[in-house]
Amino acid sequence: MATSPYETLGVPKNASDDEIKEAYRKLARTYHPDANPGDNGAEDRFKEVQAAYDLLKDPEKRKQYDTFGAAGPGGFPGGAGNVRFEEFDLGSLGDLFGGMFGGGRRAGGAGARQPLRGDDVEARVRISFEDSLDGVQVRVPVETETVCSVCSGTGAEPGTSPVVCPQCSGRGIVSDSQGLFAFSQPCPRCQGNGTIVEKPCRNCRGSGRERTTKRYSVKIPAGAKTGTRVRLKGKGEAGRNGGPPGDLFVVVDVEPSPLYERRGSDLVLEVPLTFAEAALGASVEIPTPDGPVSLKIPAGTESGKLLRVKGRGAPHLRGSGRGDLLARVKVTVPKKLTKAEKEALEAYGKVSRENPREAFAR
Ligand SMILES: [Zn+2]
Ligand SMILES: [Zn+2]
Repeated sequence: MATSPYETLGVPKNASDDEIKEAYRKLARTYHPDANPGDNGAEDRFKEVQAAYDLLKDPEKRKQYDTFGAAGPGGFPGGAGNVRFEEFDLGSLGDLFGGMFGGGRRAGGAGARQPLRGDDVEARVRISFEDSLDGVQVRVPVETETVCSVCSGTGAEPGTSPVVCPQCSGRGIVSDSQGLFAFSQPCPRCQGNGTIVEKPCRNCRGSGRERTTKRYSVKIPAGAKTGTRVRLKGKGEAGRNGGPPGDLFVVVDVEPSPLYERRGSDLVLEVPLTFAEAALGASVEIPTPDGPVSLKIPAGTESGKLLRVKGRGAPHLRGSGRGDLLARVKVTVPKKLTKAEKEALEAYGKVSRENPREAFAR
């Protein structure tokens, strides 16, 4: 066991303050309990190193030691002298070690109140199918938490102000001494804010925040689909401690259309045809979002075939132009026939040479 603080730190008696500090930092890192969990030997050594440094870093104590030795006032090591291990301050150690104590916030003072960005908020809006194609301006009510309008976020009743927390002296953390070592945690009295409110604001009950409903006018772009998100920057929850607000995301929900089915920027429209139209070919009028167009059905069109009408679909959400209209042909079978229709079909059946089951023939 070392007999003097100089030996403990391994420095000569005439070592400079910088040399002492350097030696201390090196040894403290080596023997710190965080680096040697469960190693009591290292813990004892760390204690010695800390005591030696506490003595030598203080010019007054160092002079006393040099003059009177271990027996003098503020003797070494420890004991009833001025060196008291319980006074370890993780705050200053944390600074010394430059964040060795894990990724937590740095202890002490103003750093306890960090600016935090507000949360993003999502609001759903339901629009008609037609509006989704044309674009539409909607009013969106959004309930958000904002800075209290009465106390401006301090949480204190107007005319009063928050006071420095007596438990942590405004540091926002408290050090809990367990044996030799102190462990810091957010101050339970002030929740790490460093200040407490003695007379809470009556509007927000001290939280500094209130819930308000705001109505935003939002432009839903032409071509929006179910799930399209429109972002309004800075219209989300208010930030904390001077942090920026979050964003508002308006999520679009489009009512289904009885006619059209959306497929990307294309619109699929089912077009029923009679057997005669499908077999002989025809020109039929079909609806599109911009009004009816004439669709040419080639002779011999099968049920299920897609016929493309260029540029008559939904607007592209990004960029210009539009998708296509896809006419899906559906050949219908009459449920009820007039006498004339029946005779005509029977005559057709007699003259038809087509065998649709040719593949079955052997
Ligand atoms: Zn308030
Ligand atoms: Zn506190």
